[in-house]
Amino acid sequence: MNTTAELREGFLSFFESKGHERHPSGSLVPPEWDRSTLLNSAGMQPLMPYFLGRDQPPALLLGTVQKCFRTADIDEVGLDGHHLTFFEMLGNFSFGQYFKEGAIDFAWEFVFDHMKIELDRFWVTVFAGDPELGLGEDEEAIRLWGAIGMPPERIVRLGRAHNFWSVGGPGPCGPDTELFYDRGEGIGCGRPECAPGCECERYLEFWNLVFMEYELHPDGQVTPLPKQNVDTGMGLERAASILQDVLSVYETDGYQTIMGWIASESGVAYGESETATKAHRVLADHGRGMTCLIADGVRPGNEGRGYVLRRIIRRAIVHGHDLGLRDFLPGLAEVVVEQMGDTYPELVEHHKVINEMLEAEEGRFSRTLEHGERLFEEEAESDAISGEAAFKLHDTYGYPIEVTVDRARFRGLPVDEEGFERLMGEQRERSRAGVKSEDTRAAEFATGAGFTSDFVGFEKTDVLTQIGAAEELGDGIFLAKLRESPFYAAGGGQVTDQGYLEHEETGARADLVEAHRLDEDQALIFKGNGFFAGDRVRAVVPWRVRFPTMANHTATHLLHKALREVLGEHVRQAGSAVRPDKLRFDFTHEQALTLEQRAEVERIVNAKIFESLPVRTFITPIEEARNLGAMMLFGEKYGDEVRVVEIPDFSRELCGGTHVRTTAEIGPFVITSESSVG
Ligand SMILES: [Zn+2]
Ligand SMILES: [Zn+2]
Repeated sequence: MNTTAELREGFLSFFESKGHERHPSGSLVPPEWDRSTLLNSAGMQPLMPYFLGRDQPPALLLGTVQKCFRTADIDEVGLDGHHLTFFEMLGNFSFGQYFKEGAIDFAWEFVFDHMKIELDRFWVTVFAGDPELGLGEDEEAIRLWGAIGMPPERIVRLGRAHNFWSVGGPGPCGPDTELFYDRGEGIGCGRPECAPGCECERYLEFWNLVFMEYELHPDGQVTPLPKQNVDTGMGLERAASILQDVLSVYETDGYQTIMGWIASESGVAYGESETATKAHRVLADHGRGMTCLIADGVRPGNEGRGYVLRRIIRRAIVHGHDLGLRDFLPGLAEVVVEQMGDTYPELVEHHKVINEMLEAEEGRFSRTLEHGERLFEEEAESDAISGEAAFKLHDTYGYPIEVTVDRARFRGLPVDEEGFERLMGEQRERSRAGVKSEDTRAAEFATGAGFTSDFVGFEKTDVLTQIGAAEELGDGIFLAKLRESPFYAAGGGQVTDQGYLEHEETGARADLVEAHRLDEDQALIFKGNGFFAGDRVRAVVPWRVRFPTMANHTATHLLHKALREVLGEHVRQAGSAVRPDKLRFDFTHEQALTLEQRAEVERIVNAKIFESLPVRTFITPIEEARNLGAMMLFGEKYGDEVRVVEIPDFSRELCGGTHVRTTAEIGPFVITSESSVG
C-alpha cells in the first residue's frame, strides 16, 4: 500500500473484510436540516442522523470515504504545504456494535499490517479527564492500548480541548483517542517537551477514534448513553503523506498528477520558484474543490456556497495567470474527473456541466482580471498597495478586494484595507445621498398621512376616490396619497403603471410620474396643478397600458416554467422587467440557449396560451405555499401570508403583480432576443 488510491481502497476493503458495509460519500452540500456548516466538513457529518438515533443506518457497521470542504482555510491555501480546502476523510463507524476494544484493535491492525508504520514512530493520545464534566481519564482506552502493545510512555493524556468530542452543544459526546506519526527529531520546534499535541509539525495526527458513550445535557450534566457508538476519521491526504514519506500533502501522488498537468500546460514546474509552488498548490486544491462542488450542484454566485465556489474559481484563475495559464480551468477539472471519477461517479456524470460552468466563469472573470492587471502591477512596484489603488481596482475594473489582498499577500505586500473600506463607505454615502432625498421624503410623507392607501388595482383600473394627503414639491409636481389607488407601484419585476388623475370638479388632469412602494402602502408623484388634500378625483390606468402589462406578466410566469422544463430545475429567475410593450426575463443558466431550446420554450409557452388556462390568485400562509411547491424568488423576503398566482397544472409562483384572467388573453408569444448579462 503506497499510493493515495491504494490507501483509500485498502481502508475500505479492510473494513469490508471486518463486516463493514461500504457506504458512498455524501454530497458536499449538507441536507436541508443540517445548518451547522455551509459545506460538509467531516466524514461523520452526513451520518449524524444515525448517531442521533433519528434514522436507521443502512447497516450497523459502515466504512466510508467522504468528500469534505473547509471554507475557513481558503486564504491560507498555497502559502504552506498543509492547508487544504478540499480533502477526503476515511472512516469506520459502529452503531451500537463494537466499542473501544474493537476500534483500537482494528486501528492497530490497519496501521501496522497495512500502512506498515514503524512502531517507534507511532504515538497515541487519550482523554485525561475533566473535572467540569465530572469525568476521569479514559482508563479503558489506556488499558487497551497498553494490552495491545503500545509502550506506556507513548500514550499521552490530553484534556478536553484535545481529546473530547461533542456536537458543540447538548447531545452525544465522548472521549476520543488520536493516532500520531512522529516525523522525527529534525522536524518541528525541537523543544524537549515537544510531544503529540504540540503546535509544531513534528507529530502528525492522522486518525481520530471517537467513542460516543455519553450524553451532554443542557445543564452541563453528562450521563451514559444506552447504546455506544464509534466514529473515526482518517485524513486521506495526510495519511498518504506518511506512506510516501513526504512532508507536504502536496507532494503526495494525488496532487502530483494534477501538478504534472499544470507543469506541462504552463511550462513551469512545482518548486521552480516560490510563486510557482504557491500557484501549483492553489490550482491543485481549488481544482479539486471546484470540480466536486459543481458536481454536487453548487453554482457560482454572490452568497453562501455559491460565493465559496466563485472565490476558489477566481483564486485559481489569478494564480493560474501567474503561471501564464489562460482558459485552463476546464482542462484542470478534466484531470480531476479522470483521477477521482472512479471513487466519485458524480464527477463523471456531471463532467459536461462542470466544463461549461468553468468555461463561462473563467471567460467572465479573465476579462476583469486583465483590465486590472496593469494597475495592480504598477502599484505592486511600491512597498504597499494603497487604499486608493485598491478602491480604484475595485471601482473601475471590478477587481474584487479579496483578489487584491490575496495577490499582495503572495508577494508579501500589505494592503491598506482600512483605507479601502473608508473609500467604499464614502462612495456608499455619496450614492445614498443622491437617491435618498426623494425616497425618504416619500416615505416620511406616507407615514405622516396617517392612513394606508388601499391598492385596488387587481380588480379596477378606473376608480372614484379622494386625495387623502398631498404635498407640493414645486414645478407643478406634487406628492399624493389616494384613499383607493388603482396604480401599481413597481415591484416584483413589474414596472409602475402609467396613468392619471382627473379632478372631479374642475376636470383638471395630473399625470402619474412615479410611484413609491412602501410595504403595503404607496406614495404617488404627479405632475399637474390645482390638486389638494380632500379633493375628489377619478384615478385611471388606461386599459391600453394595463392590459398588455398584465399579459406580459402572466407570460413571464409561463416563460419561467417553460425554461425550467427545457433547461432544467437549476434555472432560477434572477430578475425581470414586465412592461406594457415587452417583457425581459433574467435567469441563471450557463450558456446561451440553442436554437432548438429556444424553439421548444416558445412552443411550450404558446401551447399554454392556446389552452386558455384560467389564471387564479389566492392568499395563503407561506408554509402552505411552500408545500404547494410555489416558486419563490431567492433572497426575497416574504411575509407570513403570501399571494400565489396559479396557472393550473403548470405554474405556481409567489407574486404580487397584476395578471390576465386566462392565458388566452396573452396572445402569441415570441422571444425577440437573448443575451448574457455577464
Ligand atoms: Zn513541537
Ligand atoms: Zn410575477
